[in-house]
Amino acid sequence: MNSKAHDRLQENPPLDGFTIELLGELARPLASPASPGEDLRTEVASLYLRARQEQLTAPIVRLFARLLELHRAGQGTPADFALSAADLEGLAQRHQQIDEHMVSVGGRLTRALPIATTANARVEEYLSDKERLAPSGTDLWERILDNKRRIMAALGMDEAAWNSFPGQIRHAVDSVETLARLVDLPPAQLESVARVTKSYRMRLTPYYTSLIMPGVINDPIMLQSVPTGEMIDNAGIEIPPVAADHSPARLVDQFYPRVVTIKATNMCAMYCTHCLRLAHIGRKDQVYAREAYAEALDYIRANPRIRDVLVTGGDAFVLPNAMLRWLLGELDAIDHVRLKRLGTRIPVTAPMRVDDELLDILEESNDRKPIRVVTQINTAQEITPVSRDAFRRLSKRTFAVLNQAVLLKGINDSRVKMWKLCETVHEAYVRPYYLFNCSYRNPQFVHFRVPLEVGRDLVESMYGNISGDAIPRYIATAGGKIPLHRSNVVGRNGNEVILRKPWSGEEVSYPDADAEVYGNARYSFNK
Ligand SMILES: *Cc1c(COP(=O)(O)O)cnc(C)c1O
Ligand code: SF4
Repeated sequence: MNSKAHDRLQENPPLDGFTIELLGELARPLASPASPGEDLRTEVASLYLRARQEQLTAPIVRLFARLLELHRAGQGTPADFALSAADLEGLAQRHQQIDEHMVSVGGRLTRALPIATTANARVEEYLSDKERLAPSGTDLWERILDNKRRIMAALGMDEAAWNSFPGQIRHAVDSVETLARLVDLPPAQLESVARVTKSYRMRLTPYYTSLIMPGVINDPIMLQSVPTGEMIDNAGIEIPPVAADHSPARLVDQFYPRVVTIKATNMCAMYCTHCLRLAHIGRKDQVYAREAYAEALDYIRANPRIRDVLVTGGDAFVLPNAMLRWLLGELDAIDHVRLKRLGTRIPVTAPMRVDDELLDILEESNDRKPIRVVTQINTAQEITPVSRDAFRRLSKRTFAVLNQAVLLKGINDSRVKMWKLCETVHEAYVRPYYLFNCSYRNPQFVHFRVPLEVGRDLVESMYGNISGDAIPRYIATAGGKIPLHRSNVVGRNGNEVILRKPWSGEEVSYPDADAEVYGNARYSFNK
């Protein structure tokens, strides 16, 4: 023992209120006197011995916990076990001396441990259900590999084709006939898909198709990628896409003074059934003219307020490497553009696209000015060892990888599914950023929409239960992003505000800063 630790052990810290209360409870006589048997006496004696001998806090806590338990069960007081008040006080002091933060045995046993137990109870159901109700692609990996072998054989793909982005696009599933060979949909449903795909484009990469679990009704991967009859049955009046009223220049959308988007392509590796940009995505692939990009860049160049440019689409990673290198180079060369983002779902729909050349381009640009990759993952099932690895490499070469999920009925609108999504994404080097309420603009996916109060409950339920940096902000898009969070300031009593803890509903009083002091106080170093 070094001399400092020794000095500390010499002190006799005063017992705190919690410990005095604990000792008081233990000293209280029992309603009917007990005479504990041999077994119990041996057990307590050995707990006491360990608590005395070891330079540890846990044996002391164990002894007190057992004594409290026996006392509450009417099986004996410490005196019945030949322990005096002085013995217990000595041990309580010892606990405080050993603990680096001088935590008392009373505080630990009667306050901290019960609080931790209550907290644990909040996640029990989630922990027992998460793998069954919201399996990740990693949980399902063996079955995904079976699907992969089956799909490769059906499509005549070899490993090289599977592992290359062009191979994934060349073999993409875009007809009902091909789909029927790969997933086990009943004939009536295939007919419905055939009907819908006359109006809406379907395209799944073979990789994304391998994430669909055979035999699962309403598999969340299938729901996101295979259009259903509702898209047509719900068709009504489409509210014009944002582009019409928020595009001040070719390819550019702008809501905000400091951030704009460039819709650099209308192509995606996979077409989502809930796509907000349905009107111009997933109809016909278009390769944009150089002049279009030039006009977008001119607009940005001429607007010195713009500091952050979001290159999106469609999917930014559909752009060929040479094009991405050029575009990022042009943006980096604009003095007032200080950061960039790339919007892409490809790390989950076709992770093979994330190759070394792409990573080099991103790192090169990131070294000039920070670049974030903004992705869209809606279920834990989309995180496989392959997509996780793509995100791991992206996160090493860029400033951040962020997730913008869409809240979708039947796909991620339960606690277990949403918590599992956020935790799985987090464990895959991706930070949950936004959770979007599904758009009202397109009647084609009204069946996916979730009421705001349900979304709020989901988001609020995460506070205190999962890591803070895994909790997304809940957003409505309505000509800009509008936060939907519930306020936890529920009242005010003079200068005290009443705050609610989202995880327990408990209300606490919180002294606000005094407005008058705030208005008048002056401070300075040189008084
Ligand atoms: C989403 C979006 C942005 C970025 O918004 P943030 O809140 O900064 O993520 C900017 N412009 C447009 C047009 C957008 O749709
Ligand atoms: S990746 Fe994005 S832009 Fe492409 S189809 Fe899906 S939601 Fe639409």
